[in-house]
Amino acid sequence: KLYNQVQDLKGSIRVYCRVRPFLAGQLSNNCIGSFDEGSISIITPSKNGKEGRRSFNFNKVFGPSATQEQVFSDTQPLIRSILDGYNVCIFAYGQTGSGKTYTMSGPKLLNEQTFERTLEIRNTLEKGLNVPNANLVPVASTSDVMALMNIGQKNRVVGSTALNDRSSRSHSCLTVHVQGRDMTSETVLRGCLHLVDLAGSERVDKSEVTGERLKEAQHINKSLSALGDVISALAQKSSHVPYRNSKLTQLLQDSLGGQAKTLMFVHISPEMDTVGETLSTLKFAERVS
Ligand code: ADP
Ligand code: MG
Repeated sequence: KLYNQVQDLKGSIRVYCRVRPFLAGQLSNNCIGSFDEGSISIITPSKNGKEGRRSFNFNKVFGPSATQEQVFSDTQPLIRSILDGYNVCIFAYGQTGSGKTYTMSGPKLLNEQTFERTLEIRNTLEKGLNVPNANLVPVASTSDVMALMNIGQKNRVVGSTALNDRSSRSHSCLTVHVQGRDMTSETVLRGCLHLVDLAGSERVDKSEVTGERLKEAQHINKSLSALGDVISALAQKSSHVPYRNSKLTQLLQDSLGGQAKTLMFVHISPEMDTVGETLSTLKFAERVS
């Protein structure tokens, strides 16, 4: 399978795409296109009554009927490689409502208690890149991790926009550090997994947001494009990788490129209504692959 050929290439960038199914109550006759295992074909808005098509290729496509189990079993070998000492980064990219959080943490709806705190990134000789005020919590089980994720979700900076999704205005990053010991050689291996649920990629209409919200929207756009620049430089094996242009890429510097494995998981909505945003998501994906 195509996937098996790419999953072991360390340092390389894998790009997957998941198409959300139509939700209850939505008309399913205005689908944006068709999907197969490795590509999707989008109906582009008609000019002079002529309908166009555009195809995009991926390492893997999960269509609307793909299950969480399929996504899980496909990404498991990649995630398992943290036990062999690799750093793995999985990003969920896409417009608000396209299914990022569903892929990363399952079908829960979120609690909306909030507080804001700014975390600074430091780079010191003894610790390397670190975030002094972040909490590092030892865990012993999956349920410990889930409980921490719930707290993290509650703390996501919230702010309503026209789309009114309260968690879509911030990136969320869950990092799991794993230390393993080879029983025979006693070698210690350290790997880490970053699960990054990115802020919604939609361009915010300037007429709908003002002041702080507008600044925030511009900030999100800037940090997503800085991430795109880094991944695109890595994908092209460019000698200069611009990590320093955003907090996010600075924070993940040690886990992007080099020996690390990166999966950019782009999400799209199936409705024709938002085909403009979908095309810009797909163009982002094209740029980083
Ligand atoms: P995002 O995080 O990109 O804003 P969500 O993950 O919150 O989007 O998904 C939006 C809505 O669609 C939620 O109600 C979610 O439960 C539903 N949804 C997303 N992906 C799927 C899927 N693959 N199957 C079923 N429902 C989904
Ligand atoms: Mg979300």
